[in-house]
Amino acid sequence: MSKPLIVKCPICKSLVERDNDYFPFCSDRCKTNDLGNWASGVYTIPDSQAHDFDDDESGTIH
Ligand SMILES: [Zn+2]
Repeated sequence: MSKPLIVKCPICKSLVERDNDYFPFCSDRCKTNDLGNWASGVYTIPDSQAHDFDDDESGTIH
């Protein structure tokens, strides 16, 4: 009744079908790779130490 949805894996750009266990990734490796991007700081993550340092530095500048 519905056609299979196919997307491109965000990691390696391979075609991935909707019924893939790792959708929208093509494989467990690519799924882990994406999670690794978060863990390694590719995406910005607020840091309490950085916030504390920023507060101290703003006082120095002004
Ligand atoms: Zn992939």
